[in-house]
Amino acid sequence: MSTPVDFTRKFVFEQADVRGEFARLHESFRQILEIHQYAPAVGKLIGEFLAASVLLSTTIKFEGRLILQAESSGEIPLIMAECSSDLQVRAIARGAEQATSQEFGSLLRNGRLAITIESDAGQRYQGIVPLGGAGLASCIEHYFENSEQLPTRLWLASDTQRASGLLLQQLPAHLVSDAEARARHWEQLHTLADTVTTGELLELEHERLLTRLFLEDPLKLFPAASAAFACSCSRQRCHDALTAISARELEEILTAQGHISMDCEFCNQRYLFARDDLREPLDTDAAHAVH
Ligand SMILES: [Zn+2]
Repeated sequence: MSTPVDFTRKFVFEQADVRGEFARLHESFRQILEIHQYAPAVGKLIGEFLAASVLLSTTIKFEGRLILQAESSGEIPLIMAECSSDLQVRAIARGAEQATSQEFGSLLRNGRLAITIESDAGQRYQGIVPLGGAGLASCIEHYFENSEQLPTRLWLASDTQRASGLLLQQLPAHLVSDAEARARHWEQLHTLADTVTTGELLELEHERLLTRLFLEDPLKLFPAASAAFACSCSRQRCHDALTAISARELEEILTAQGHISMDCEFCNQRYLFARDDLREPLDTDAAHAVH
């Protein structure tokens, strides 16, 4: 069976309590970059956010999505990537039209990263970590460290064509119970992974890459799972958002423009609402005014 163009693939080491995952996005990343004009450094960072969101999303144990969102006072005020439990991805950078820097530390100066997991059933978990200058992977690693989760390392790479990521995570003792041996295995494996180059992450066929990195550490690969660009926006969601606006404001826009237009910034889909479509928010608010 051939590997999908956009995919993520899990593996486990057969002689160490360590798991791994490799993700590569090409087509979905291209589709996302086509929606807006981004400076190359911004597009590249979107790729890293996407690859990381895919790698982290596969740990979700329910139907839902993982969202990586960074806000900063640097050249990128906001950047976010989202991956659902069925591997549908979307991403955006906002307000970064003037970005010229190539440096993570100036693009996302004084930034903070929110890692949010939302279930379709409405549960929400969020962790927040400051963004240092060392890059997205290292910030996510700090998040795992500080939240006392399993030790986790990530390697991310992106150009404006492809985005890739490799993740290693230490598992609870199962094959090896000796603490020293466990620590040694973990150290050895992430030291080997540290030798990966950006070029290899982006271009090398992934099974060859894993063999190159872990030649003497047998690993078992699970089937690849396919990822794709898809937006979760809908006319109903836009309508729901309009109900949060006061009837007076809605009236003002309707009078000025004849309709209300909402564009989804993730996919550019335009939703148009005429006065007749907005009976509910207009009437609800009028009712409030009377009582
Ligand atoms: Zn959309």
